[in-house]
Amino acid sequence: MKSQKLKYTSYLFTYLLLFFSIFTMLEWFFHKQILFTINENGATTKFNTALLFFLCTISLIISRKKQRKYRTPFFIFTYTVLFISILTLIEYIFRVNLYVDNLFIKDTFTIVNPGRMSEATAVCFIFFAIGLTGLKSTNRAYIATTQHIALVTSIISLITILYFILRFPIDSKIVFFKTMSIQTAISFLFISFLLISKSYNIGFKETILGNSDGSRSLQKLLPFIILIPFFLSFFMLTLINEKIIGAQSGIIVYTLVLILSGFLYTYIVSIGLNKSDYLRRTLEKNLINKNSELLNFKEALDKIAIVAITDENTFIKYVNDKFCEISKYSREEIIGNTNEIVRSDYHPDSFYTEAWLTVSSGEPWFGEVKNRAKDGSLYWTETAIVPLKKRTNYIREYMAIQLDITKRKEAEELLASKYVKTLEQKNQELEQFNYITSHDLQEPLRTISSFSDILYEEYHDKLDSNAKQLFLFIKKATRRMSSLIKNLLDYSQLGRQREISKVNCNLLVNDIIEDLNSTIKQNKATIKQSNLPIINAYPIELRLLFQNLISNAIKFSKKDVSPQISIKAKKKDHVWEFYVKDNGIGIPEQFQKKIFSIFQRLHTENEYEGTGIGLAHCQKIVGMHGGEIGVKSKPGKGSTFFFTIPNQ
Ligand code: ADP
Repeated sequence: MKSQKLKYTSYLFTYLLLFFSIFTMLEWFFHKQILFTINENGATTKFNTALLFFLCTISLIISRKKQRKYRTPFFIFTYTVLFISILTLIEYIFRVNLYVDNLFIKDTFTIVNPGRMSEATAVCFIFFAIGLTGLKSTNRAYIATTQHIALVTSIISLITILYFILRFPIDSKIVFFKTMSIQTAISFLFISFLLISKSYNIGFKETILGNSDGSRSLQKLLPFIILIPFFLSFFMLTLINEKIIGAQSGIIVYTLVLILSGFLYTYIVSIGLNKSDYLRRTLEKNLINKNSELLNFKEALDKIAIVAITDENTFIKYVNDKFCEISKYSREEIIGNTNEIVRSDYHPDSFYTEAWLTVSSGEPWFGEVKNRAKDGSLYWTETAIVPLKKRTNYIREYMAIQLDITKRKEAEELLASKYVKTLEQKNQELEQFNYITSHDLQEPLRTISSFSDILYEEYHDKLDSNAKQLFLFIKKATRRMSSLIKNLLDYSQLGRQREISKVNCNLLVNDIIEDLNSTIKQNKATIKQSNLPIINAYPIELRLLFQNLISNAIKFSKKDVSPQISIKAKKKDHVWEFYVKDNGIGIPEQFQKKIFSIFQRLHTENEYEGTGIGLAHCQKIVGMHGGEIGVKSKPGKGSTFFFTIPNQ
């Protein structure tokens, strides 16, 4: 509100000054007396004065423009003002004519020193021009000094106005103030106000327009100090002049009214100031209370949590004692570093990137982080990182609050490793069982098969067509059972001779394509592979994995559509992700998990031959490598099988 008022007053004064200076210059130009002789005895505003006012106002207007192009005109105008006013003053002091007075316009009205501005005006312009230079300075002391120098201008103009209002006879004026015109004096008052309002909040401006107690008292008292004595003197002098009251009693009345009104005014101002003081003290008390509340929170937080605050570029600027204690770094070692200082290799880069993306978007991030202390030991923390916004939507700091969960994590890891061991043991037992049963089952099956063959050979003449049909069923069923048992045996033996070695996946897939050559030709399949990597894997198992996926892609193709298969790989953080994509019949969503279980098929033997163990093999192989397998598919639109192999 206050600054708004200040702004509008500045605009008003600027326009008035521009109008006054241009108007006066035009008056001189056309030799018309309208404004510059306000009364017969008074002084005139000279052309030079109007010109300097004009230059000063323009300097003030462009003083706040940041662009470089305004800098030179600003200084040219300001120094022109300084130059002309100094020359004028020299003319007065040394009684010489330096030909500046009638340089632009010839003054034919004035008798004494035609065209020359008064000494007071020249002095005011010198002080004012010095004040103007302060607007372009960054030095506090210089700005404050120039502001105070410019203040002299307003004091001189104020005295001139006083003289005018109190109607001092021109002869009793002090010589210095003799010839400054009232309109010049008022213009100086306006332009001084503009200078103060444009200046930095230091020096005189700070004292007058500031918000501290002293400034506020000054703001309240200043109108009184200036206006009341002013108008009172004017009033009393009129009464004395009109002989309504004698000079002596006039002075007594003047003094009495001044004391009384002064007391009343300061009393009222004090009541207002007391009120705001009371308000301030209440606010202070609230602030102290809030502060101690905050301190309590901080104390509680410091007792249980590890706290760090970073700036917006993630450089640490505060850590509490707990941070130093757990990370084993001294405060000096941590401050100025980023969180990298306690970063362990445990998490992939993506983990930290995800955290950073979350907090930098203004959202808090939560997670469990494994950190490394100075001595290399590792510790786990439950972490919350909160972005702190000081202004709307502008993050100034991040605060990380962490709880030490190392013990809990160690217990979890211990439990998990025990669980894995038990699981591995159980798996081994199961595989053993599988192996033994499938191995042992084959024997009686072979007996059934061979005896039924013998039976058929011996008695087939005596059998009718129905019995022959039944024999055929027995034969088919024993063959299928035998192949199921064989598959089971393979499954249990998968990965028994485990040995990891470097496998060139390109060569491996080429080999498979060669092996499947006749099937590929039969089905008119095309297989494309793009630059597959060399990875560390179990070679035999990996081959089986690719082989199963490729042959499924050929097998489950749409009728009358030749299979098109593409094999790709992509590196993702610490794993290689492989894709085997086909344009086949696709898989309904509800079966996409089920098909990886042993003997799970979606079709009958007549539709597509198979035993339902291929994908179970694949899952086991990927699992052996520590990866994951899955499928994305839509019925009728083809399937993409994908699996990951850690990049060890
Ligand atoms: P099998 O191929 O012997 O049937 P799998 O374990 O290899 O056994 O596959 C299980 C089932 O998953 C298949 O019966 C089939 O229904 C489905 N399947 C596997 N691969 C594909 C594929 N590329 N497109 C469509 N369905 C598939």
